[in-house]
Amino acid sequence: MISTPQKIRSGAAFPFDNSYVGLPKHFFAPQSPTPVSEPWLIKLNEPLAAELGLDVEALRRDGAAIFSGNLIPEGAEPLAMAYAGHQFGGFSPQLGDGRAILLGEVIDRSGKRFDIQLKGAGPTPFSRRGDGRAAIGPVLREYIISEAMFALGIPATRALAAVTTGEPVYREEVLPGAVFTRVAASHIRVGTFQYFAARGDTEGVRSLADYVIDRHYPALREADNPYLALFEAVSERQAALIARWLHVGFIHGVMNTDNMTVSGETIDFGPCAFMDAYDPATVFSSIDQHGRYAYANQPGIGQWNLARLGETLLPLIDGEPDSAVDKANGVIRAYGERFQAHWLAGMRKKIGLTGDEDGDLELVQALLSLMQAQNADFTLTFRRLSDLAGDEAAESAFVASFREAEASSAWLTQWRERLSRDPQTTSARATAMRSVNPAFIPRNHRVEQAIEAAVENGDFSLFDALLTVLARPYENQPDFAGYGEPPKPHERVLATFCGT
Ligand code: AMP
Ligand code: MG
Repeated sequence: MISTPQKIRSGAAFPFDNSYVGLPKHFFAPQSPTPVSEPWLIKLNEPLAAELGLDVEALRRDGAAIFSGNLIPEGAEPLAMAYAGHQFGGFSPQLGDGRAILLGEVIDRSGKRFDIQLKGAGPTPFSRRGDGRAAIGPVLREYIISEAMFALGIPATRALAAVTTGEPVYREEVLPGAVFTRVAASHIRVGTFQYFAARGDTEGVRSLADYVIDRHYPALREADNPYLALFEAVSERQAALIARWLHVGFIHGVMNTDNMTVSGETIDFGPCAFMDAYDPATVFSSIDQHGRYAYANQPGIGQWNLARLGETLLPLIDGEPDSAVDKANGVIRAYGERFQAHWLAGMRKKIGLTGDEDGDLELVQALLSLMQAQNADFTLTFRRLSDLAGDEAAESAFVASFREAEASSAWLTQWRERLSRDPQTTSARATAMRSVNPAFIPRNHRVEQAIEAAVENGDFSLFDALLTVLARPYENQPDFAGYGEPPKPHERVLATFCGT
């Protein structure tokens, strides 16, 4: 039975405080979710709901209806946002939320504003030829990986809920439909700026920039040149973010400009995955045939995307075009140094250094080269190095990360020599290293196993277990030791697919 969306009568489950809907009318299209036949709540993230000040009791009761879009909570002003974007380098002037619907915004307990958005809630005016729907696999993948990123301490949109719809979606095969509810500092993308710039709508770009400054960078209102300062601030957050991705072996997979936020949060977990064995050329996405978004290309792509953002801001940065270009280019050039500084600072921590010396970069690079040549697992190598820092008896486990046991001995000698000049005690060092070198990441074979059990047998136990382990990635969890292991050769999953 298809029910018509209706307002909740029993109190407000969401204390909405909507602001995007107050922007000019051409920024979005009002759009209600399309009801589904048989919604079923897979998961409600109750701690997150509580942090957001939502009525958890009401969500337990009505969650299936609300998070499927069948019941529109009081105070929601559902809309689909307009945006454009460069996809694999080619520009599409009109993308927009083709299957995502913003219900509204809430202010959380600490006073921060968040979007609550349904993904897969039916067609919108931006759907082009798409059905506006999502399949269960990508919904579970996004749930697992976005929550894992949060637990790892990496800025990311979060998972509030997942439901199945009771309706099939048609991709290469027929799959169960699902709706994912995400929470984001905002859903404004580089591509949102491009949408207005591509139309020559400088006033639209200005309204958006002012809104972004108010919402994400309020201190910049007082800057001499707020729009240049905004460009710098976004580039700083993206440099920091992408460095964090590299520190944990994360590969986003679709770093199109419409999938890059101006808030600095990771967004759009399509074919993303974490690498097992260290190889900078690693690509998982089945549609990334030329490796544009390979692991090691991500910092450079970040810079390319920021250049596209800078182009949209030129008329605001300076009325004199040549001068605007000079100023924007300064920011784009500085991004390289910003990224390198964030990356190296994080890598120093990963190998247990608190101070900095000139040869540190070479020491880090030597380890990475060794890992690549010796097929070492990225996560395990650093975790075992953390153990070794605190206990010499852990050397055999570290050494076993490499194909040839003796391969790491010269590097270990250099590392110990460098540590002798770093003031930390061994136990403090091991603790500090374990707090940046996770034992658990969402290994791709585990994610795929969880999805397969859900799709084939309606069994969500692996999904739940993964969420439990990944909520505490830096702690040893002996009961879940297997989740820390790389895949066996027959378990390896080398290709991931977008949700489209
Ligand atoms: P993505 O690759 O997921 O970032 O999506 C790129 C664009 O395609 C965005 O504008 C999406 O809203 C749109 N899109 C993706 N999947 C669908 C779908 N099933 N129906 C309608 N639009 C979609
Ligand atoms: Mg997207």
